[in-house]
Amino acid sequence: EFVATDDEGRAIAGLDPDQVVATPVLAVVGRPNVGKSTLVNRMLGRREAVVQDVPGVTRDRVVYDGLWNGRRFKLMDTGGWEPDANGLQAVVAQQAETAMRTADAVMLVVDASVGATATDQAVARVLRRSDVPVLLAATKVDDDRLNSDTTELWRLGLGEPHPVSGLHGRGSGDLLDAILDVLPETPRDTFGAGGSGPRRVALVGKPNVGKSSLINKLSGETRSVVHEVAGTTVDPVDSLVELDGDVWRFVDTAGLRRRVRTASGTEYYASLRTSSAIDAAEVALMLIDASEPITEQDQRVINQIVESGRALVILFNKWDLVDEDRRHELERELDRGELQSVRWAERVNVSALTGRATRRVAPAMRRALESWDTRIPTGRLNGWLSDLVAATPPPVRGGKQPKILFATQAQTRPPTFVLFTSGFLEAGYRRFVERRLREEFGFAGSPIRLSVRVRE
Ligand code: GDP
Ligand code: GDP
Repeated sequence: EFVATDDEGRAIAGLDPDQVVATPVLAVVGRPNVGKSTLVNRMLGRREAVVQDVPGVTRDRVVYDGLWNGRRFKLMDTGGWEPDANGLQAVVAQQAETAMRTADAVMLVVDASVGATATDQAVARVLRRSDVPVLLAATKVDDDRLNSDTTELWRLGLGEPHPVSGLHGRGSGDLLDAILDVLPETPRDTFGAGGSGPRRVALVGKPNVGKSSLINKLSGETRSVVHEVAGTTVDPVDSLVELDGDVWRFVDTAGLRRRVRTASGTEYYASLRTSSAIDAAEVALMLIDASEPITEQDQRVINQIVESGRALVILFNKWDLVDEDRRHELERELDRGELQSVRWAERVNVSALTGRATRRVAPAMRRALESWDTRIPTGRLNGWLSDLVAATPPPVRGGKQPKILFATQAQTRPPTFVLFTSGFLEAGYRRFVERRLREEFGFAGSPIRLSVRVRE
């Protein structure tokens, strides 16, 4: 059972502490079987430490909490999959791309007993372009005799290889020291300071929902797929599209064009791409096929978006196929609680085929991002909160009345609030506060997060 603690090591009744104070992220990449999991577990000082494990969500990215010499960091393990032999290199390279885009430092794990393989070299080539620091860990160096094996790894061009044995722990302290040396104190702003440059959009949804059609329609309509914007470097996998007077960066649209429809691994690639696009984006445009029942797969993608804390606009596509009957059916699906977890997201009924309502997409994204960026001044927040608590105090627990002392918005993107309390706050009351926060301040189109810190 994962227990979140505050800075003094006391248990926090609430969520993951990372949602309270942002901690820097180290991404761990490498081929399968090089010893990543063993090393990660060693570094965490425990065997199994899954923090984010949401049922029904494709888990190709696991985040663990780490603590070393009093410093908190996150370990993001992007591995854990076994694609077919042909795809391995591409998948691991993709994994490295995601790591470079989203983490504050990257650790490439190589099996010293095997040496640098072609895949290791391909990944190293990707990582050499990295703006964030990259460390090279040489695993399975169980004793001194094997140290010489690591010398060869210098030629990966990633600096000094750090010999380590995940199995025995040898060298793991030194490795952790080296990691903390390069990790910044606070996470970088992956979206660029001040939000300059085009805002990033991830176009997501199950296969055949109409993603390619929509991007074609949007860029065709405005007849302006922009190739260059002054002062921005454009990732060749992204598309710049002018919509409603603004240039937007649709991330990883190359992935939409470059279709991988092989028998094995197709879904795997798709989900990997979805999560890397979401990670790289600020707002997700989630397409749902309105002409068919909402599926489990739709729900999975939605969960991924919410989990990653991105702004969201839901597009019900293929609206041209929706007749009276289907419309009623869709209403019933929504009444039954489909999309319940994202009631806050704006919905637009569009047709990528006819162009219906596509003009409403950009304004909806703008509104969602505005919510996502919102910061409520502390004075206003606490004024509102004290009225709320006076009218509806938290329920008494074990004969004690928990007190809400203070609230602050710790972060934007998405808005993240921390309540400081004396005594435990029940989940029901937390949800009540969250609901009222939305009623008061809106946040349409953005997830919000609320954590509780208990002061004894
Ligand atoms: P991953 O797929 O990269 O996460 O690799 P694992 O951590 O699952 O390890 C793959 C295999 O290598 C397992 O059989 C481990 O027991 C073994 N292994 C991992 N680390 C070491 C190590 O430091 N020394 C030795 N001798 N074996 C290791
Ligand atoms: P993707 O896999 O999500 O990129 O989906 P595509 O854009 O390739 O679309 C899959 C199929 O759905 C194609 O045959 C499209 O012509 C069709 N399609 C896409 N959008 C619409 C729409 O709004 N209405 C209708 N009737 N068909 C659509």
